[in-house]
Amino acid sequence: ATLPPPRTRIFKIIVIGDSGVGKTCLTYRFCAGKFPEKTEATIGVDFRERLIDIDGEKIKIQLWDTAGQERFRKSMVQHYYRNVHAVVFVYDVTSATSFRSLPAWIEECKQHSLGTEVPRILVGNKCDLRESVQVSTDVAQQFADSHSMPLFETSAKSPSSQGGGGSCSSSDHVEAI
Ligand code: GDP
Ligand code: MG
Repeated sequence: ATLPPPRTRIFKIIVIGDSGVGKTCLTYRFCAGKFPEKTEATIGVDFRERLIDIDGEKIKIQLWDTAGQERFRKSMVQHYYRNVHAVVFVYDVTSATSFRSLPAWIEECKQHSLGTEVPRILVGNKCDLRESVQVSTDVAQQFADSHSMPLFETSAKSPSSQGGGGSCSSSDHVEAI
């Protein structure tokens, strides 16, 4: 008997943080391999996908981008937090305010059962703006440690050798919820 073709496993990862920290640029960069020429403010919920190959198995990474839950209606919040495999918290290294918002985002996730049992990572974006840094790596690392998260300082904008590239498939979807 022939086996059915293997199904592509989908990993849903939600990207959370204040408006303007670069969530849309980061998800676009990961899925399309480049910095978007222009971004419009995200409306509602949007997701981008990238197919990656892990040990010969095709994995679909689905990054969920948001306008920030403060603008969500209740029904959307529930949809967004359902079946999440991992959470990415993003702040902007040039914005102390975006860093100070993190506890509230972490708390919001916990209220939707996304605590330490779900992989969570902390991302400090806009590292290319070195002269304007307001959040030091030390302070961010301490915060990450206290919440048992790894910290990654990134730039969606500056060229990098990792990520992106020609092998990614990108498709934009707007979820009508
Ligand atoms: P979002 O509201 O979190 O989705 O933020 P956006 O992705 O829309 O980005 C907000 C602004 O920050 C835009 O003007 C982007 O061009 C800019 N931006 C995003 N990521 C970076 C980055 O890594 N470096 C720099 N210099 N600007 C960035
Ligand atoms: Mg956005």
